Amino acid sequence: MGIWVKRNIMTNRETVVEINEFDLAQAGWGMKLIEKASNLFMICYEDHIQYMNPAGLKLIGAESHNDVLNKPIIDFIHQDYKDFLSFGLEVLAEEDDFVPLKLTTLDDKSLDVKLLINELQLGPMTAYIVEVQDITAYKRASEAVRDREHRIKSILNTVSEGIITFNSDGVIQTFNPAAEKVFAMAAREAIGKHIEELMPEGTRDKYRRIFERKISHGRSKMMGRAIEFEGLNQDKGEFPLEMTVSSAQVGSERLFTAVLRDITERIQNVERIRHMAHHDTLTGLPNRHLFKDRLFHAIKLSKRYDKCLVLMFIDLDKFKPINDTLGHEAGDTVLIEVARRFRNIIRESDTVARIGGDEFIILLEELDTTESGPLVAQKVLDCLKEPIIAAGEECYLGSSIGMSCFPEDSMDAEELMRCADEAMYAVKTSGRNGFKLYDSALSILGTK
Ligand code: GH3
Ligand code: MG
Repeated sequence: MGIWVKRNIMTNRETVVEINEFDLAQAGWGMKLIEKASNLFMICYEDHIQYMNPAGLKLIGAESHNDVLNKPIIDFIHQDYKDFLSFGLEVLAEEDDFVPLKLTTLDDKSLDVKLLINELQLGPMTAYIVEVQDITAYKRASEAVRDREHRIKSILNTVSEGIITFNSDGVIQTFNPAAEKVFAMAAREAIGKHIEELMPEGTRDKYRRIFERKISHGRSKMMGRAIEFEGLNQDKGEFPLEMTVSSAQVGSERLFTAVLRDITERIQNVERIRHMAHHDTLTGLPNRHLFKDRLFHAIKLSKRYDKCLVLMFIDLDKFKPINDTLGHEAGDTVLIEVARRFRNIIRESDTVARIGGDEFIILLEELDTTESGPLVAQKVLDCLKEPIIAAGEECYLGSSIGMSCFPEDSMDAEELMRCADEAMYAVKTSGRNGFKLYDSALSILGTK
C-alpha cells in the first residue's frame, strides 16, 4: 500500500490518497507508456496541470516540468478557444471523440490540435487525462490541397477552352464554364450525360464507336491530337469543334479529359480567305485562277465521258467611256449588273468568271454537241440589250464574244483560251457586238 499526498493550490488543502501496490504497479507501467508517447499527455486535477509527458513539454515549448506544473490548463488554450474550457474539463470529458482547438505555447506560438479528455479516478479524486494531438502539419497539408484544388478550379473556370472530363463509359463528370458556353448547356445538365449527347444526332454512332471501342481501350490514334468534330450547341445547332482528348489512370478508374473549342470563326476565316483567293471581289464571280482549275477539271471529265465543251470569251464593248463619263463607281455598278445577268442565263453546272477589267468567260460543260454555243452567245448579247442604270443614267452595252470548242479546236486548256480570245478579237475588229466561233482559217461562222 502507498500513499499520494495531493495539495490543492487554490485552497492549500492537502488530500491523502491511499493506493495499493497493484494500482501502483499498473500506474507505473501506464506512466512509462505515456512517457514514450509521441502525443502530448497531461494529467489535470481541478483544471491544473499536474503532469505533462516529455512529448507534451516539447510541443508546448517547456524546458522542464516546472514550466507547466500547477499551471491552469486554460493558460495554454488559445484566446479564441478559451470559452471551450469555461465549464471545466469535466464537460469536455463527456465528448467521446477528439475536439479540434488551438493551443498557445510558452513561446506564444499557435498550434492546431485535437484534444481528447478522459476522466481518471484516483481514489476519491477525479483527475483528467488530456491527450493532445498536434495537427498543424496535417492542417497545413490539407489547406495546401484545398488551395491547390481552388487554384485548379479557378484556372478551369477562367480558361477560354472548354474542358470536360468523362469516364471510360463516356459519362461526363466535369464541365467547365467555357464548355457551358460552347454547348449552351449548364454543367448540372451536362454532368451524367454521355459525351455523344454533345454531338449532332446523325454523327453519334460514329463518335460512340470512337469513344467506346478506341478511347476506352486507350488505343485510339486521336489521343493527344486535335481532331475536328461536329458539336451540338443547344441554341445554335451544329457547329465545328476541335477536340483534344487525353487520358489518365486515377486509382482504378481511367479518366479522359477533352479540351475543346468552337472553331466556327476559324473555319469561316479560312473559307473567306479561300473564297477571296478564288473569286473576284467586285462581282463575286470565280477569278481567272479558279476558272482555270474548273477548265482543267471539265476537260478531264469531258475526255472520260466523251462530252463537249464550249469556251466563251466575252469583252464588253465601249465600257471605258462609262468610266470616263459617269465615274469608276458607275463602271463598277455596270460590271456587277453584267455579272448578275450572265449568271442568270447559264445553267448551274456551267461557269461564268471575270478574268480581267471588262472580260468575262463562260464555260459550257457536259454538252453532247457544241451547237448550244451560238445559242448561249446570243443569250449573252440579248441580256445586255436592256440598259443598265448606273449613277442615275441608262447605260447601253454590247459585247464581243469569241468561242472555242473542245475537242474540235483543242484538247488543251491554254490553247482553248487562246483560240476563244482570238475569235473574240476577230469580232472586235469586224464591228463588235457579235460572236464568232474560232476557226483556224478565221472564217466567220457566227452571225453578227
Ligand atoms: P473595247 O470596246 O475595245 O473593249 O474598249 P473598252 O472601252 O471596253 O475598253 P477595254 O476593254 O479596252 O478596257 C476595259 C476598261 O475597263 C479599262 C479599265 O479602265 C476598265 N476597268 C478595268 N477594271 C475595272 C474595274 O474593276 N472597274 C471599273 N469601273 N472599270 C474597270
Ligand atoms: Mg472592252
